Amino acid sequence: AKSRGRNRLRFFNQSMQVEVTQRTTLTNRLRQGLERKEFFLHFQPQFDERDQVLGAEVLLRWHHPEHGNYPPAEFIPVAETTGLILPLGRWVLEKSCQQLAEWAHDPEKQHWQLAVNISPRQLHDGHFVDEVQDILQQTGAPASQLMLEITESQLLEDIDEAVSQITRLAAMGISFALDDFGTGYSSLQYLKNLPLQQLKIDASFVRDILDDSSDKAIIKTILALGDSLELDVIAEGVETHEQYRTLYHMGCRQFQGYLLGQPGPVEDLPA
Ligand code: C2E
Ligand code: CA
Ligand code: CA
Ligand code: CA
Repeated sequence: AKSRGRNRLRFFNQSMQVEVTQRTTLTNRLRQGLERKEFFLHFQPQFDERDQVLGAEVLLRWHHPEHGNYPPAEFIPVAETTGLILPLGRWVLEKSCQQLAEWAHDPEKQHWQLAVNISPRQLHDGHFVDEVQDILQQTGAPASQLMLEITESQLLEDIDEAVSQITRLAAMGISFALDDFGTGYSSLQYLKNLPLQQLKIDASFVRDILDDSSDKAIIKTILALGDSLELDVIAEGVETHEQYRTLYHMGCRQFQGYLLGQPGPVEDLPA
């Protein structure tokens, strides 16, 4: 039994070693990727109940010359722990604001919002508010068309600091969405104190809405909460007509998901 334990331990160490090596490789590649401009953006449209485009969520993409595409779920956590999310996140914001500035001249698109994912590191960096202000100024993007997506867990790291940063940005005209809503620990107290515009129902609840009565109940609660706090509620991960219909009948009026539009290059957004 003892030798089996030792083997298991060695196996464990080896797999840990592999993981450390992979992370180092990924970190170096991320750094290089930023220099070599290997990143690009995809846009996934968001719709109201009349199928009008409200705007899009900005999703970061990375094509490495040898490895191919890395999914965000793989490289973003590494970018966060190494701090590389700071230059990377800044780049995403710059590109998004350049896009908004371009749309400002297009009567069909000038009302479109872009929703940009913000990592906790960015929000707690201390320079974030100034950085966003600089980017808006340099690009000429209207602050009213910029929405920042934050998650509940990232608020909780330092709620007072988060509220203060978000309040300053909201005063500049920027909107905030609370992403993956329902998956973290929400306190109704901070919901009341934050200048939010939108709650995003997490895709995991939408996925099982037809078969899982507790997921359906959670969605119902989120919609009621949005109603009473006067927040928009958007459902993400809508993949089927049945999910869409059920959400609509429950009172949901904003939608995002493969059923309505895949993430893709900006030219693919429906006009
Ligand atoms: P998220 O913010 O929850 O983004 C939604 C994810 O769901 C995206 O995955 C999107 O492609 C995917 N999705 C959209 N519609 C559907 C659908 O109908 N069904 C299903 N199953 N999935 C759908 P993606 O692009 O792989 O991004 C994963 C996560 O990476 C994002 O989750 C977000 O947390 C993070 N991320 C992406 N871009 C950025 C970024 O620029 N900055 C930061 N900090 N995080 C980002
Ligand atoms: Ca998001
Ligand atoms: Ca989400
Ligand atoms: Ca998510």
